[in-house]
Amino acid sequence: MQDCIFCKIIKGEIPCSKVYEDDKVLAFNDINPQAPVHVLIVPKTHVQSIMDMNNDEYQIVSHVFKVASKIAKDMKVDEKGFRIVNNIGEDGGQTVPHVHFHLLGGRSLQWPPG
Ligand code: 5GP
Ligand code: ZN
Repeated sequence: MQDCIFCKIIKGEIPCSKVYEDDKVLAFNDINPQAPVHVLIVPKTHVQSIMDMNNDEYQIVSHVFKVASKIAKDMKVDEKGFRIVNNIGEDGGQTVPHVHFHLLGGRSLQWPPG
């Protein structure tokens, strides 16, 4: 999508600090990290949120979780634990309308979230 910041990052038009890439997803460090490890795992196909996915597109969600487990191991947060967050819409706190999953770790995270 033309004006989408994450589509621009995926196309290489905006730089990012890349953590992982395959044919389906790009993962990069969040520009405003909320924890020592804060990686965004972003499907390469533009879909606004999980609410807009068709049956085939939902398969990306399991792929994202597989990639997240690999990144968690690589970044050494797998033993102490980490969190995967998917914000959806206004009340969910979504600010970028291209589906993405936050991988947060490296500190003790609070619950419930704000
Ligand atoms: P949301 O609030 O939509 O769940 O998360 C969007 C995230 O994208 C935020 O944590 C924000 O810091 C991050 N972000 C926004 N613009 C950029 C950017 O240009 N580069 C990177 N690396 N992260 C971004
Ligand atoms: Zn996009």
